[in-house]
Amino acid sequence: MYKNLIHKHVVITGGAQGLGLAMARHFASLQNHVYLLDIHPPQGKLSDNISYLQCDVTNRHQVTQISDTIAHVDILINNAGILRDASVFKMTDEQFAQVVDVHMKGTFLMTQIFAAKMKDAKSGNIINLSSVASQGNFGQTNYAGAKAGIIGMTKTWALELSRYNIRVNAIAPGLIETDMTASIPTEIRNTMIAKIPCQRMGQPSEIAHLAAFLASDDASYIQGQVIHINGGYYC
Ligand code: NAP
Repeated sequence: MYKNLIHKHVVITGGAQGLGLAMARHFASLQNHVYLLDIHPPQGKLSDNISYLQCDVTNRHQVTQISDTIAHVDILINNAGILRDASVFKMTDEQFAQVVDVHMKGTFLMTQIFAAKMKDAKSGNIINLSSVASQGNFGQTNYAGAKAGIIGMTKTWALELSRYNIRVNAIAPGLIETDMTASIPTEIRNTMIAKIPCQRMGQPSEIAHLAAFLASDDASYIQGQVIHINGGYYC
């Protein structure tokens, strides 16, 4: 179905639910082995080719320990995320730091440690989850800043890691139906949906298909790009 996307070792952070779990299931259905890294385990049964590993991506010690248990990685998807929304006047230092930590430091640590394995293997593929909110979004100073930062890191790593045959790209989803967006009050969510040209939220499976395409050799000349998947909606 996708070129050279079989029997790969795929690491997905924040994979216990939502987009991470949808991507894990899709990659596993294509006969790849998936390692799900998350603070808490996924609910429900996983297929035999999905392994759960407890890991806080903001903790260098834990990420290093996990990387020691995974001998080889072909694809890394930096997907773990949290929201701590507040207007600029109300946002606390803690809310700001927590979001920047998970999205930016987590993505940095995972990439630094796992890209070293890819460098040795002279092959690899990294996909970072940004967001439509990287262009600015009401009440999301911390999240918008972190997601814009992820774009900067993606483009930097594309420059630095290309020579090792490692591709680095970002996916910037719009409003996708997951637990994260279920936490948005219904009235606000409906207002957001009304602004989407496709007139609906996206489905996690639609992100999973894009991730699989980007991770495959069908996308072999796509490097350092941000792929928007948002039903036509921009903040
Ligand atoms: P989600 O349902 O909230 O899943 C995120 C997962 O990451 C949760 O299982 C969460 O655990 C885990 N996580 C949080 N902090 C972590 C840490 N320090 N270490 C390891 N795992 C951690 O979110 P989602 O909607 O699937 O979103 C996935 C990614 O796409 C995020 O980066 C998000 O910002 C991005 N995104 C989503 C949308 C959307 O509409 N859904 C749009 C644009 C971008 P807890 O539940 O314990 O926090």
